Amino acid sequence: MGVEETTLGNNVITTSLDKVVNWSRSRSLWPLTFGLACCAIEMMATGAARFDLDRFGVLFRASPRQADLLVIAGTVTKKMVPVIQTVYEQMPEPRYVIAMGACACSGGIFDTYSTVQGVDEFLPVDVYIPGCPPRPEGLLYGLMKLQEKIMNERNSFGAVLGIGERISDI
Ligand code: SF4
Repeated sequence: MGVEETTLGNNVITTSLDKVVNWSRSRSLWPLTFGLACCAIEMMATGAARFDLDRFGVLFRASPRQADLLVIAGTVTKKMVPVIQTVYEQMPEPRYVIAMGACACSGGIFDTYSTVQGVDEFLPVDVYIPGCPPRPEGLLYGLMKLQEKIMNERNSFGAVLGIGERISDI
């Protein structure tokens, strides 16, 4: 685009600010250290040495104020709903939610009075991961799908400046 290749070689790339913002966000997802039941064990295994989430830039944080990803890993009881909502509201924007496992997606085998039949009844879910429990590879794939979704967001930079809303339509 008007740049002499012979002068600059492969040292220059052109892109949009939205893409830079999306790329940096998607490659530095920081999930909250938060688990609810057996799926959380698989989440912990995913963060450990064998699967090594750090290589994706995914680092667990102990405070919701430093986290931008909430992985709902486990059975959600109605008693826990206000707690999860409080934690979610403490996270800064933009924030994302992964429903990990059958319980978080749909209540799983617990079709009972005390269990929420899918966390999307009270939280906006970005990615659903099926399985009981999903293996670490399932969570890794879910994280990659979330990265893909973030890369397709529009007006990310404009939203930072307060010009319009971030658009995420897939
Ligand atoms: S989906 Fe299965 S493994 Fe995960 S929390 Fe529910 S019962 Fe446990």
